Amino acid sequence: MKIQNNNIRNPIFNVNRIRKDFPILEKKINNKPLVYFDNAATSQKPIQVIDRLIKFYKEENSNIHRGVHTLSNIATEEYEKSRNRIRKFINASDNKEIIFTRGTTEGINLVAHSFLEEKLKEGDEIIITAMEHHSNIVPWQILRDRKKAVLRILPMNRKGELLVDQLEEMVNEKTKFISITQMSNALGTINPIKEIINTAHKYKIRVLVDGAQSIPHMKIDVKDLDCDFFVFSGHKIYGPTGIGVLYGKEEILEEMTPYQSGGDMIRNVTFEKTLYNDLPYKFEAGTPDISGVVGLSEAIKYVDSVGIENISKHEDQLYKYAVSELGKIEGIGFIGEAKKRTGVISFDIKGIHPHDIGTILDQEGVAIRTGHHCAQPVMDFFKVPATARTSFACYNTLEEVDIFADAVRKLYEVFK
Ligand code: PMP
Repeated sequence: MKIQNNNIRNPIFNVNRIRKDFPILEKKINNKPLVYFDNAATSQKPIQVIDRLIKFYKEENSNIHRGVHTLSNIATEEYEKSRNRIRKFINASDNKEIIFTRGTTEGINLVAHSFLEEKLKEGDEIIITAMEHHSNIVPWQILRDRKKAVLRILPMNRKGELLVDQLEEMVNEKTKFISITQMSNALGTINPIKEIINTAHKYKIRVLVDGAQSIPHMKIDVKDLDCDFFVFSGHKIYGPTGIGVLYGKEEILEEMTPYQSGGDMIRNVTFEKTLYNDLPYKFEAGTPDISGVVGLSEAIKYVDSVGIENISKHEDQLYKYAVSELGKIEGIGFIGEAKKRTGVISFDIKGIHPHDIGTILDQEGVAIRTGHHCAQPVMDFFKVPATARTSFACYNTLEEVDIFADAVRKLYEVFK
């Protein structure tokens, strides 16, 4: 096997042991073993998370915060214990700073609505970057249009690196907010967000970090980053879909008005007046996704048991190996060649539509994503309609990269 000759073959951990935790990886797709390289869209779930969801519904299911009965107390305790684990995972100071949402998209919408909307005046400016996911573009566009504000775009170069030096020239007294992704889902670029946050804070501008892609790949320390908001989705880090987290600094969340209203976010209601609940409940209206929260907590426990730093190193090894193997195939072009990138490879092959690449690889059991990856401005910038994207998780192997690269090579031979 090719990788035997490669001196990057030092296992960071026992990946075969890890793979046993993910039942779906035993599946055959088109009679071939599944090679799941669509992790940037959503990751697979370990048995520990699946079992935790089953346990919740079999043994603990009840609504939270409202009951005096035993089951309600158990569910409440598990829900709040989960909040605590997630707080520790991103090193937030207080559980009040951890708000459960449906995911990254809802977190961004919450901040746009509850934090920025009332502060934004006609002519004020919001800065995002040229490599944002639609979820970090559209909420700001809607706000811009409603408030007659201005949306400014921090540009990137042809390698897919932000021109961070330009930020200092872009900010002025009208700049009210900056929202940036820590890692691009379309290019794999890792952005220097600490530097961006430092610049923003010099001018007292608040910053939201979109951590949808970074959360499964690298250690996140919100205190060290000093970001004002950090959002992510559970499903990208081995947790269930439909659950996500908004971290916000306590003093900022305190001054914000609720996003949605209804049960659990209230302290007292009369027909004349409503008193809102304390943090974090002020932002958790209605019955939350309780099983999703405990499932996400189990996923974080799983990541902790493997070690996020180990996962990072392992994925980086896969990533570098895949880039070098793909790079040997004639006709391959990479979209995004930033110096600092990981986990995600966007590519195209001369003369073959990305959609065909995805369909043919599927016949070989290899799942990749093709399309604009909800980042159409990135596609426009690189003048491509779509890309083929492969992305890694802790359970992927160098052997799978070989299967993938062989399939791409075969495909190129047939089509060229
Ligand atoms: N931002 C980025 C960078 C993403 O990759 C994604 C998901 N592809 C999102 C935001 C939106 O996440 P979700 O659909 O889970 O809300």
